[in-house]
Amino acid sequence: MGSGHGARMIPATYQRPDSIAYALQALAGSIGSNDTRPIAGGTNLLDLMKLQLVTPGALVDVNRLPLDRIEAREDGGLRLGATARNADTAWHPLVERDYPLLSAAMLAAASPQIRNMASNGGNLLQRTRCTYFYDRATPCNKREPGSGCSAIGGLTRHHAILGASEHCIATHPSDMCVALAALDAVVHVASVRGEREIPFADFHRLPGDTPDVDTSLAADELILRIELPPAARFAAHSAYLKVRERLSYAFALVSVAAALDIAPDGTIRAARLALGSVAHKPWRVAAAEAVLEGARPGAEAFAAAAEALVQGAVSQGQNAFKIPLARRTVIRALETAARGTVDNQGSSRPQPETPA
Ligand SMILES: Cc1cc2nc3c(=O)[nH]c(=O)nc-3n(C[C@H](O)[C@H](O)[C@H](O)COP(=O)(O)OP(=O)(O)OC[C@H]3O[C@@H](n4cnc5c(N)ncnc54)[C@H](O)[C@@H]3O)c2cc1C
Ligand code: SF4
Repeated sequence: MGSGHGARMIPATYQRPDSIAYALQALAGSIGSNDTRPIAGGTNLLDLMKLQLVTPGALVDVNRLPLDRIEAREDGGLRLGATARNADTAWHPLVERDYPLLSAAMLAAASPQIRNMASNGGNLLQRTRCTYFYDRATPCNKREPGSGCSAIGGLTRHHAILGASEHCIATHPSDMCVALAALDAVVHVASVRGEREIPFADFHRLPGDTPDVDTSLAADELILRIELPPAARFAAHSAYLKVRERLSYAFALVSVAAALDIAPDGTIRAARLALGSVAHKPWRVAAAEAVLEGARPGAEAFAAAAEALVQGAVSQGQNAFKIPLARRTVIRALETAARGTVDNQGSSRPQPETPA
């Protein structure tokens, strides 16, 4: 590929350590000029490098690090290693049994081949699919801070209706992250300074006036794993609904992760609800879940929850249709969840409790 921009496509160094301590030392070099990047499946990073949107000086391949395990926690929760593949995670027996919402969201993404390559850590850090971000001939504040936002007043069919700023109206495209947001995941990260935990709600950012910063992860931090609190009580009533322009191999226009814990008397004990592809991060609103808690599943409660979730939505022109679409998709996802989870083979799961 001809550069013509003086940008470097091939990194100066490539390392494939098998020790986390070594990888963290290598990443510590990214503070300063040597922009060192981890690479996992490469399904996003290599595309960005080919387009010279990212030109790392060094790559640290994380695939030999001991981070590929999926393990049960003693409290009934789950640990998902950062380098575990999306396919292995989605089809893992514990994920299918206790987190069918996550499994369904992951299987709605990309293609089987990409899911076999894509890692859990990389999925969280995938960049937006805004067309202008990939077109270096157009201004884009995310690619080049201060240059402007070509999407505002331009092609906005896939853009944000919630949480956008005057500097960026891009959306986060992940399916997995919508389910992780709904399920209260926590991201465990490390650097040479030590380890820290980032609640999922704080992991991705809204664009504000720094849309070039997607997440709260520092440049020298490595994602070690994603931890999920116990969620078996939601397993019988969950649904991930992805609305897209064609049935497979497409990013969502709108997606909804919905999970209900329904008591034997038929009322909703607890609800988890998140919207995807409508904002710079998965969109979750406590008031929307509060509306459902204590209510009986049905049209009235579901419409109220949908209204609370899209509260404050703003059209950017061509994407005005996403506001009513988001409402309808929330209602349909909740109806589907209330009827009972459909497993990955397309069968209804056995219901542990029969609502009265
Ligand atoms: C054609 C196509 C269609 C797709 N469709 C969908 C879809 O419908 N839904 C969806 O959700 N996704 C979709 N994707 C995105 C895909 O899921 C992501 O590209 C993938 O999850 C990224 O994982 P990876 O391991 O390949 O990451 P990489 O490309 O290796 O890395 C991505 C980023 O993560 C960083 N990184 C990787 N691992 C770590 C770590 N452990 N710690 C810190 N940083 C790390 C890298 O430095 C890089 O910045 C699609 C991708 C393609 C190419
Ligand atoms: S919406 Fe964001 S990513 Fe797209 S052009 Fe504007 S600043 Fe760039």
